[in-house]
Amino acid sequence: MLVAITDQNERFVICSSTPKAIYKKIREERTFFCPQCKQPVQFKIGSVKIPHFSHLSNNDCDLRFSEGESEAHLLGKQQLYELFQSLQLNVELESYLPFIKQRPDLLVKTSKDNTFAIEFQCSTISKEKYLYRSKGYLDNNIIPIWIPYTPEVKYFESGITKISLNEQLRQFIQTTKTQLFLITYHPYKKQFVYFSNLLHVKDNRYITRVQTLDLNQQLFPFYLPKKLTKLEFKQYFKTYVDTKKQFLKYRLHFSRKGVNDLFLRSLYELRLTLSSLPNFIGVPLRGNESMKGFAVEWQAALFYFMQLSGSVYGSIEKQDILHFLKWAGIDQSDRTIATVHEYCNLIKKLSIHHVQDSVDDGQLIDVLYDQFLALNNGN
Ligand SMILES: [Zn+2]
Repeated sequence: MLVAITDQNERFVICSSTPKAIYKKIREERTFFCPQCKQPVQFKIGSVKIPHFSHLSNNDCDLRFSEGESEAHLLGKQQLYELFQSLQLNVELESYLPFIKQRPDLLVKTSKDNTFAIEFQCSTISKEKYLYRSKGYLDNNIIPIWIPYTPEVKYFESGITKISLNEQLRQFIQTTKTQLFLITYHPYKKQFVYFSNLLHVKDNRYITRVQTLDLNQQLFPFYLPKKLTKLEFKQYFKTYVDTKKQFLKYRLHFSRKGVNDLFLRSLYELRLTLSSLPNFIGVPLRGNESMKGFAVEWQAALFYFMQLSGSVYGSIEKQDILHFLKWAGIDQSDRTIATVHEYCNLIKKLSIHHVQDSVDDGQLIDVLYDQFLALNNGN
């Protein structure tokens, strides 16, 4: 904790600008208490962590709020608090909200009477807890903003790259009208690291544009990353196609079920080979994340399905989509239905009437770029 109540009943906040020597002196003159449980707390001024308060023994309070607060968490919380102060905003550190029994790292009130709870998340939080706490804020007109600790130092290179986001990080992905992005913070670098314009590839893998922003450059509301330009999207597309090629090579060697392998069967029935696969099979769509496997697998299967059912390519009714999903062993949900529908629209837009048709890469990129920027599927 960075906040305690003094024996004179004053709120005491530890800040980064005060030298340790001064804090040591204050420690001799005052006693401190936990703002929540009112139990005495220790003012720790050591060489490892930054000065902070800590309960004398493990108690309920620690379990509920601090959860073994790390150095990174203390430091980040303090830096963000000081950022909001420098932006002249009304900010409270570790304020306890009795009506929901929660203590956000920071509570920020803007001039427009909006209240934000800022959580700098360094430890793992379960999905249930994350949703529960977010709901607690939202039910009380407080907008939660979760900022996870930047995952790995190697991402500090700005630019377009592939990254891996585990389930923990994926839950903090935010949405704007034109993109999905993740804001992270690195207290030792004093930098925000943005993973913007996220494009799902497969499993945990994404293509993203990495951007860093120094703490003292940040504003509030937080900087929003710009949408991808067409030129950048071409780079995304190239990265995606390279990944697809690698995947196909791997897939050829590790066929899962031999002749029952739906993907290989689809290619065979469509008279395609892995090397003669048209560019429009295995394309990045936002909804791909909800489907099973790599996009190239279900998209090839859909062509095979349309051939089997004698449908006009791309003109497929909802009933057929449901049938396809079941046949391909993919969950039937609003998102998967919308994703297949989206792919059908793409086929129509590109005037594909036969799987052997060819489409110019430039034309394909144009259509995919428009779809990439259009918010869909509620993701
Ligand atoms: Zn306490």
